[in-house]
Amino acid sequence: ASFAAVETGLVLSRFGQHADVEDQHGDVVRCNMRRAIASLVTGDQVIWRRALHPTGGVDGVIDAVEERSSVLLRPDFYDGLKPVAANIDLMIIVSAILPTLSLNIIDRYLVAAEITGIKPLLVINKVDLLSADELQATEQQLALYQKLGYDFLLVSAKANLGMQQLLDYLHSGTSIFVGQSGVGKSSLMNSLMPGLAAHTQEVSTNSGLGQHTTTVSRLYHLPNGGDLIDSPGIREFALWHLTAEEVTRGFVEFTPWLGRCKYRDCKHIADPGCAIQHAVENGEVSHERYDSYLKILASMAQDKPNYF
Ligand code: GDP
Ligand code: ZN
Repeated sequence: ASFAAVETGLVLSRFGQHADVEDQHGDVVRCNMRRAIASLVTGDQVIWRRALHPTGGVDGVIDAVEERSSVLLRPDFYDGLKPVAANIDLMIIVSAILPTLSLNIIDRYLVAAEITGIKPLLVINKVDLLSADELQATEQQLALYQKLGYDFLLVSAKANLGMQQLLDYLHSGTSIFVGQSGVGKSSLMNSLMPGLAAHTQEVSTNSGLGQHTTTVSRLYHLPNGGDLIDSPGIREFALWHLTAEEVTRGFVEFTPWLGRCKYRDCKHIADPGCAIQHAVENGEVSHERYDSYLKILASMAQDKPNYF
């Protein structure tokens, strides 16, 4: 085969040494990757060339990956940290009211959003199960996050509540849904994009080490604008690889106090002269968030070092 001139394209999904690349006209071409490419994931912008076969078949080869504006990493047993999706603008952190709304889990995802530089949106699903009083109490609980600059939405995929507001956030850029199993991520995505479930598929790849069945990450265009990456591997990235220092940076309200502690290596746990602890005592940093910070650090130390 001969090759056409280079083009830019968007990676919709990757499997083994192949990727589906969307060209500027929206056509999808299956490409091979040059061996020199170290990492390629859903959401990557690439430089590629179309192969022209005399028989009329079309495929291509990816020459290079453009610089990423953001990347989500997942700890991999064999490879250490592995990129799973790139160029994400919005992290939709889904929680559910029942059985309980876990603010600590929300805080973990918020740390991840801050460290990766992806804008977070808190979505609380299943509000159809709440009484008016419970709804109000939940809003009060979440006011803390609003004060920190984080938007939140109360929605119900089942009762179709707040879905238009959610769509408004998705209109531009690329979004990804994260959150624990059972909170309703699939339900939300399916109601935003009917037919999504039909696309979700398992792909078998032959890696040379035998046949593997993997669930691939995939990028979808929403009917009214905006892109959505569905990445089963990243939905519940509870074991995010971060240092204690990064966790500290992930709590935005700590920022004004950093560098003001008595000791330079202050861990902000029970250290004398800690400016953050002082801010908590004075009510300038919320107790809830500080306790949540301690809980995250404790769980990191307890599991594998540097994991939580
Ligand atoms: P995922 O694991 O986060 O993808 O969660 P699913 O979308 O599979 O939903 C888990 C369960 O919650 C399913 O039984 C859904 O029917 C249910 N569910 C999802 N959204 C809602 C909602 O808004 N209200 C109620 N009551 N149940 C919901
Ligand atoms: Zn300190």
